[in-house]
Amino acid sequence: MVCRAEPLEIIQSPMPEPTPEINWYRVPEEPRVIDTVVIHYTSALGWFNEDFQEQFGEQVAPVAEKVGLTPENLNEHKFDFQLNKAIFVAYGVSAHYIIDRDGTIYQLVPDEWVAWHAGVSKMPSPDDREMVNTFSIGIELLATHPDDDPSVKADPENAFTEAQYASLEQLMEKLTTEYPITAVVGHDEIAPDRKKDPGPLFDWSRVRHDDLTPH
Ligand SMILES: [Zn+2]
Repeated sequence: MVCRAEPLEIIQSPMPEPTPEINWYRVPEEPRVIDTVVIHYTSALGWFNEDFQEQFGEQVAPVAEKVGLTPENLNEHKFDFQLNKAIFVAYGVSAHYIIDRDGTIYQLVPDEWVAWHAGVSKMPSPDDREMVNTFSIGIELLATHPDDDPSVKADPENAFTEAQYASLEQLMEKLTTEYPITAVVGHDEIAPDRKKDPGPLFDWSRVRHDDLTPH
């Protein structure tokens, strides 16, 4: 294991305290086993969707205002961390980490707690375990898919940044040191009927070494 002089910098950005109506995580009664990492992407591209605005528009408007978001400049702001976190808060979902385009790592939920990132999910065979949230860490990269984002379609290099991969590698090194991680999977592998993240442009060679391939 490589010894690093500098500890990995992680910015703490906790999800809200649970309310009677909504919670963003579960605090296990017993320490949980963490043996899997799930890779996702997320963006604010859907911010102005009619359904989202109808359901959550009032709730998320202050965040949009703070950032200076308008329908015209959504493309400039689609990877804004605060906008993306506001979407998570509105939907009642969470992840342990979000990695910004410049490589900044935010932690939203402590590793020990169960975050709501995978939803209905099942590990690839022969593992076949369901409810992947219960034994995994979820990492979101701020990114989009070529089907949804013309800038990625025009140049696949725009999908994920080198800074994101570098931070993800360091975070994976930390997690595999601290926990008995045996697999790193994409959301699209554990919920293939519903999800397409991190998608075909994610470079798995950056995180999936032989010992982390699902088996
Ligand atoms: Zn996902």
